Amino acid sequence: MKTYIVGNWKLNFTVGEASVYLHKIQKKIANYRDIEVVVAPTALCLQPLSLQLERSKVRLAAQNAFYRDFGAFTGEISFAELNGLVDYAIVGHSERRYIFHEDDKMIAKKVAASIRNKIRPILCIGETESERAFGETADVIRDQLLGGLSEIGEDEVSKVLVAYEPVWAISSTKDAKIATPDEIAEVVKMIRDNLKEIYGAKVAEEVPVLFGGSVKPTNAGAYLTVPGVNGLLIGGASLILSQFTDIIEVAKRVK
Ligand code: PEP
Repeated sequence: MKTYIVGNWKLNFTVGEASVYLHKIQKKIANYRDIEVVVAPTALCLQPLSLQLERSKVRLAAQNAFYRDFGAFTGEISFAELNGLVDYAIVGHSERRYIFHEDDKMIAKKVAASIRNKIRPILCIGETESERAFGETADVIRDQLLGGLSEIGEDEVSKVLVAYEPVWAISSTKDAKIATPDEIAEVVKMIRDNLKEIYGAKVAEEVPVLFGGSVKPTNAGAYLTVPGVNGLLIGGASLILSQFTDIIEVAKRVK
């Protein structure tokens, strides 16, 4: 399986800044067949960057989209509109869940809309600090995973990528709040066990599982060698050219 290195730029970079930054990334990285480099800029950047990226080593992801294709939904953009512009879409990021109140039902519809429009969803799941403290991690992971997949057919599940992002480890500046490889291994095993139980062993092996939460060049190697981890979803460090390209180099070395 490929290693996926996905940069989530969140609400950062104007179209001009994003274009220059992407140009620099393309210049700095080699074309690795077994490493899929993906960036997720703001929605406004997707059309111009998709033209800039034709036949490039870097792929585009949307950070979010609405699940209905067209209609009276003021302010939304849809997966149907993104069809042909992006290869991936982040769905169910914790910032969408907790700031914009997206629940598993809505996230399931977005996963289905993404697949219907030929875009591979990156389904983000992860427990909060208090859920972990109360011993609820396994239940949260199962609910978010199976809830998110509930609107697609069994034959479509292997098109989904799952990103385990413990909410307490996102954008952390404290060592105590950074996930250890053992903590990640335990949850990644839960994810694959749930997939195996519901969809069978083949699907459980085929679904790429990424880790996200304060990934840096210094910890990327340890995270990428956690059993069952196939890539990284990177927020803060993906905004700094040297850090993002160093993480790609680490992925190449680990491979
Ligand atoms: C994220 O928000 O998806 C993320 C992983 O952010 P960071 O790398 O900054 O923790």
